Amino acid sequence: MIKHEERLAGVNPRLVEVVKLAASICPIDIYVLEGVRTMERQRELFKAGKSKTLNSRHLTGDAVDLWDGKNWHAAYFLPIITAMNKAAQQLGVKVTGGYSWGWDSPHWQIEK
Ligand SMILES: [Zn+2]
Repeated sequence: MIKHEERLAGVNPRLVEVVKLAASICPIDIYVLEGVRTMERQRELFKAGKSKTLNSRHLTGDAVDLWDGKNWHAAYFLPIITAMNKAAQQLGVKVTGGYSWGWDSPHWQIEK
């Protein structure tokens, strides 16, 4: 089940499809933290050191941040990572998970 699905508003529809399919096969609930970001919000996150770029894929609606609603430790993201990769493969959508960069476990972006 998806929590805070309203936060997917404005996100690339292909990426939304992946998140929805992932939520249907994931054994735990998937909470949407953030989808589309304003430049103002991006600047804030960048200044606070929570983002490493001002050119985030969130600005164009091509990224979402997902978590289980409880734990920030990387290990707890595994069920979501498995479900997102499976869903993307099934739908033929190319996505990149921030876990693969070694620091941004909640982040998912669609590749063009
Ligand atoms: Zn992100």
